[in-house]
Amino acid sequence: MLSTPNQFLDILWSYWGKKGENSWEKEFDKCRGRMQSPINIDTNKLIVDESLNIEFINYDKAVNKANMFNTGYKVKIYADENSAEDVFISGSALNNQTYKFIELHFHWNDGPNNGSEHAIDGQKFVMECHIMHRNIKYNDMETANAHDDGYAIIALVYIELDEPNLMYDMITDHLHNVQDIGQQYTFETSIYLESLLPPNREVFYRYFGSYTTPRCNEAVTWIIYPELVFIDKKQV
Ligand SMILES: [Zn+2]
Repeated sequence: MLSTPNQFLDILWSYWGKKGENSWEKEFDKCRGRMQSPINIDTNKLIVDESLNIEFINYDKAVNKANMFNTGYKVKIYADENSAEDVFISGSALNNQTYKFIELHFHWNDGPNNGSEHAIDGQKFVMECHIMHRNIKYNDMETANAHDDGYAIIALVYIELDEPNLMYDMITDHLHNVQDIGQQYTFETSIYLESLLPPNREVFYRYFGSYTTPRCNEAVTWIIYPELVFIDKKQV
């Protein structure tokens, strides 16, 4: 059986205490790499390439029986291997390789505007969503980890607005089911990944980097949408 992404990584590191961020370099040698994520994106240094595109395949299809799990560091949502219609991304921005959706999760914290992992021109955001995909030519996580084209992650950054974002109710309405670490919940209603994406998908930042958490493998093509998604503070 396939392990769910990060299932084993999550227990090896922590944001706090002895195993906090400063100890990552000691325990995970790849965290010293030169292509570590997250980064600050300096928009003055971007190289524009209009030939790059991303194709979303089956993003408009229902993901049924998605599972939600509280790992203690994040709430992740992943498809049931047996019931979900496969969802992919491809396109020239990904060297025309095909990556299959495996998991999405959110990063946030209680601070006003520093819940995101990435920054744009030095500015962080209240929350960030990572939609993770694994290259279909690799059958498992270990193999994909060992290759620099192993994963493609779509990152979305959020700012707050007073109005609720109805698209996100499909997720936030159910968060109370996973309030405690280790709790799992299976959605009875369908999830549509497309509804998480910003309306304008033409403009994105791409860079080659790593997981933002140990073991920090430099196996990730990052696609960041600078178009902000608005979300109600109550939903965060
Ligand atoms: Zn993440």
